[in-house]
Amino acid sequence: MEERRGRKIIMFPLPFVGHLNPMIQLARIFHHRGFSVTILHTSFNFPDPCHYPLFTFRTIPHSNAGGEDPLTQPDASSMDLVAFIRLLRQTYAEPFRQSLAAEVGRGETVCCLVSDAVWMRNTEVAAEEVGVRRMVLITQGLASFCAFAALPLLRDKNYLPIQVSRLDELVTEVPPLKVKDLPVMETNEPEELYLVAIDMIEGANSSSGVIWNTFEDLERLSLTDISSKSQVPIFPIGPFHKHSDNVLPTTKNIEEHVTTNWLNKQEPQSVIYVSFGSLADIEEKEFLEIAWGLRNSEQPFLWVVRPGFIRGTEWLKALPSGFVENIGQKGKIVKWVNQLEVLAHSAVGAFWTHCGWNSTLESICEGVPMICTPCFTDQFVNARYIVDVWRIGIELERTKMDRKEIEKVLRSVMTKEGDGIREMCLKWKEIANVCLGKGGSSSKHLEKLVDHVLSFDS
Ligand code: UDP
Repeated sequence: MEERRGRKIIMFPLPFVGHLNPMIQLARIFHHRGFSVTILHTSFNFPDPCHYPLFTFRTIPHSNAGGEDPLTQPDASSMDLVAFIRLLRQTYAEPFRQSLAAEVGRGETVCCLVSDAVWMRNTEVAAEEVGVRRMVLITQGLASFCAFAALPLLRDKNYLPIQVSRLDELVTEVPPLKVKDLPVMETNEPEELYLVAIDMIEGANSSSGVIWNTFEDLERLSLTDISSKSQVPIFPIGPFHKHSDNVLPTTKNIEEHVTTNWLNKQEPQSVIYVSFGSLADIEEKEFLEIAWGLRNSEQPFLWVVRPGFIRGTEWLKALPSGFVENIGQKGKIVKWVNQLEVLAHSAVGAFWTHCGWNSTLESICEGVPMICTPCFTDQFVNARYIVDVWRIGIELERTKMDRKEIEKVLRSVMTKEGDGIREMCLKWKEIANVCLGKGGSSSKHLEKLVDHVLSFDS
């Protein structure tokens, strides 16, 4: 394995937690197989390299040399995600081109660039210019990617923009999705969303291969569908975080110690863990319904309320006075947790989630039933698969999320109705383990991926 040192893989993650985490996990997988890894990262949201001593980090400066970062200006922070991604791509197109050229110029043999699919064609010309092969990492599931790819067609067939009267109608082109499950979001730039879809598909199709954080057994039909249409090799080697290279000893900060101590005091499978990921935000009214629903369910809960999660309000300010004190030891509200550790804790009995793809995979791997409240894009698709295809969760639609409904759903998951789901969760956990084990599909795809990457410079 050592002979591969001196062969470098350059990675270019999208600077959001749900994209950076899987890229870093993939970096560890490559590093463990003898490659050296350099991560080119935007100056926006730059991670602390001290946490990742195995890799070399290089900062890509934003395009406004000597001036303010366009992404941290007030008009950027009020943008919706689609507009923000457009700005992100514009801001880093040229600086990335220059940084990649500089990196390649350092002399070490570069096997390939691995870039996040959402950078799309930004990276294509830059890689061609310096003669480096380009692989794409897709951090969403295969099923949601298929639905995303179908958006232009679905618009032509008048499913989009979504009409309220058709929400529960089956979309026959992408079953089992209903109109309400289509991977769209509220945006001031709806056309840009279609462009993103088209560009992402074309960017993947013109690459030297696509690496996917999923596993064959979970998304077999979608994999067959995509493989039949795609000209490039596909490597579903997930779940990345469960490869042995990613099972790491963790050092806890004080808040994490407090959380673990609290979990240690709870009964097995009694706690509802609540987190809506790193990007979603909600209205104050919704926040209060969640708070009361959790309290009224009388189940112990651990709730991640990120600063910025509630629109226009500071952290827990919206809660009635005395609310937190009244909950006492029954519930715990924190700003962030080590989610992998929380989901693996024996006290956790269910995960109320926004169904981000990482959260979905992490829950599947720990056999934890999900309560699904998707907020935007691929989360709707993931939720439909969790509930109707894999049968490991229950739906709690955001539009129906009042305190009574929340209490009902939470109780049902933790009691009888949750039992069938719990069995299915254990089944899927086992299937994921088999895929990752010796001779499993993800392990085999990983071997092929390594051979594929090594073939680039031979
Ligand atoms: N996460 C975490 N602590 C938290 C909330 C989230 O470590 O308190 C991690 C989680 O483990 C996952 C990522 O943040 O790896 C969120 O990614 P996901 O795709 O689920 O959602 P996104 O944040 O992209 O919407």
